[in-house]
Amino acid sequence: MLVNFIDMLNKAKEGNYAIPHFNINNLEWTKIILEKCEDLKIPVILGVSSSASKYMGGWFVCSNMVGSLIKEMNITIPVCLHVDHGTKEDCINAINNGFTSVMIDASKYKIDENIKITKEVVEYAHQRGISVEAEVGSIGLTTDSENIYADINDCIRLYKETGIDALAPAIGNAHGIYLEKPRLNYELLDEIKREISIPLVLHGGSGISHEDFEKLIKHGISKVNINTDLQIAWKKGLTNFLENNKEVYDPRKIILSGKEEMNKKIEELVNLFNTKM
Ligand SMILES: [Zn+2]
Repeated sequence: MLVNFIDMLNKAKEGNYAIPHFNINNLEWTKIILEKCEDLKIPVILGVSSSASKYMGGWFVCSNMVGSLIKEMNITIPVCLHVDHGTKEDCINAINNGFTSVMIDASKYKIDENIKITKEVVEYAHQRGISVEAEVGSIGLTTDSENIYADINDCIRLYKETGIDALAPAIGNAHGIYLEKPRLNYELLDEIKREISIPLVLHGGSGISHEDFEKLIKHGISKVNINTDLQIAWKKGLTNFLENNKEVYDPRKIILSGKEEMNKKIEELVNLFNTKM
């Protein structure tokens, strides 16, 4: 069933566990993730970035693909189809084409502008039953070393002035592969949790240690975004397959050869996040 994330994230917040957000890139990845999460009986958020949407043929193609797979595969778990780091235009287009949730990322603007844009998206989304995540501070790439922490007052303002359903604050996390140990700011996270009653989201979940994940969830993270980890897992399976099957040219066998490694990674993360229905 395609749903927004409000119910699943509120339950996760109450129950002190986290819901995984996995980015999808194609039909095969979507099938693998849906099948595994159905098998594990856990809710899941499928994230589509603007570039992934373009790659797959557009927001309409993505939502029809996910909706059709849910039907054909008899998926019974709650599935949220979510825009990852969208502009206002991305969010509106995706909502008009069947997405059930969006992340408006106006974090590159100053806080007043961020609030203005986020609020416009919230108004559009909430009229249609769509959930909204927004970002404060800049969750950049792992190669950035400055501005890695959100300002607490900006977090409070964005939360109070826009009506968002979940907040992704920059707390020392980053996208991609961490070059050094992430400098996660738990004091800031605790302060945000005290001031803000909506679920909190962690981007850049790939490469965070098991100990840190357990701590982050204990300190109030209810949604964790995973992208790079599944890419690495898929590539590992694929590389191994190609090395050992030099005669194979069937694209279906080649593309699906990363499945087992992806499944292992999904299960490992879900266990770590203690995800429940
Ligand atoms: Zn992100």
